[in-house]
Amino acid sequence: MSAGSIHGLDGARVDRLLASETERFTRSHARSLAWLDEAADVLPGGVPMSWMRELYRHPPPVIDRAAGIVTTDIDGNEYRDFNLGDMSVLAGWAHPVVLRAAAERLARGAQFLLPSEDDVGVARRLAGRWGLPFWRFTLSASQANVEVLRIARAATGRPVVLMFDGKYHGHADELLYGGLDRAAPEIRGVPAAGAQAVRLVPFNDGAAVERELARGDVAAVLIEPALTNVGVVLPEPGFHAALRAACTATGTVLVHDETHTLSAAPGGLVEAWGLQPDAVTMGKGIAGGLPIGTYGMSAALAHAVLSGSEEVASGGTLYGYALGQAVAAAFLAEVLVPEGYERTAELGARLADGIDAAASAHGLDWRAHRLFNRSGLTHGPTLPRTAAHARATFDSALFNLQRLYLLNRGIWEAIDSAGPAVSFAASEADVDAYLGVFDDFLAALT
Ligand code: PMP
Repeated sequence: MSAGSIHGLDGARVDRLLASETERFTRSHARSLAWLDEAADVLPGGVPMSWMRELYRHPPPVIDRAAGIVTTDIDGNEYRDFNLGDMSVLAGWAHPVVLRAAAERLARGAQFLLPSEDDVGVARRLAGRWGLPFWRFTLSASQANVEVLRIARAATGRPVVLMFDGKYHGHADELLYGGLDRAAPEIRGVPAAGAQAVRLVPFNDGAAVERELARGDVAAVLIEPALTNVGVVLPEPGFHAALRAACTATGTVLVHDETHTLSAAPGGLVEAWGLQPDAVTMGKGIAGGLPIGTYGMSAALAHAVLSGSEEVASGGTLYGYALGQAVAAAFLAEVLVPEGYERTAELGARLADGIDAAASAHGLDWRAHRLFNRSGLTHGPTLPRTAAHARATFDSALFNLQRLYLLNRGIWEAIDSAGPAVSFAASEADVDAYLGVFDDFLAALT
């Protein structure tokens, strides 16, 4: 079946569009394609990390430089960015605050395997925003999740982690199990035996959560406040309250992964929606694009880390390195400020309104996602309430044609499991540029 034929679109027209867009891409990316070809001699698949190839159906453009939200590839093509490095670059590139803080810190040394003075300021700021008193640092959100789950197991003496269908929490073995009936490895090489320590339930299913926690072996529930890795799935009224109540009743550690949703408000969705987790995890965007991960925890969890005959050791030689902490301190204080969140949320709403309006103008019964600075599209008339619903209403072949069309016209679209997000460095004109090309795409489709 060709992309789009299930949506009442003319399949032959969609196929022709894909062919012409592929040809246009090939013509305008000659240097990138030659580079990828040569790179395959030393880099498996021509890339230094799988996702750089796997996340797209077209070859990746090879990037030369970026400033603000515009990246330039080695062919000289420019793109306005709506993926934000999958939320790792929240305020564009070459941001003056990042340049200043990084230069100052680099000149005095970047990494010591010892504390540096910025640690306290960053932790206090995060504590004020997320309402959790104690913080530690890693180099990525994946690692923050691994550390918190270990602490939760040590604190409760229980083995199992409960997660939600449609989740993504990072690239560590224990996080890479999926499947509702019985968890199984999601990628080759992850040990099958580890699946015993993981269970998954549908998002928005409070009864399923209660049933699993009643078994008495769950150390932690790990959940994004809204799913952001199968498009966007919002919680239904009462779901988070039921989750909190079930965790409290069973002594289970409730962990909110705010790695993506931290862009919603200064204290993420925890603050915006008044949630009360025992721990939060995040990373990516808080140090202006430099590697960082962090987790915040309740006093009880911090106590569990330090009590007993030996500490629940967290570790990584570069975790909490001075350069990342210095940039995070400046970035949180000067860039990730309340007015910035308000502006990007307004621009996110403008983006969602425009997506809805364009779909309706072209007679397509599709809906835009709405989550502060993040939007996106579901190829159907109702927004999803579970990951299964999200998958069933999203045509990824059609989406991939969209991203190719947009990139051929200077818009770097989100990866297909995400949806476009608005940068702190974006303007109304940038959002309107996205919407203009999106409207042209729908015209070409229909
Ligand atoms: N948590 C969530 C919700 C994520 O979406 C991701 C990455 N997309 C991670 C954790 C892991 O982040 P990283 O790849 O930086 O470790």
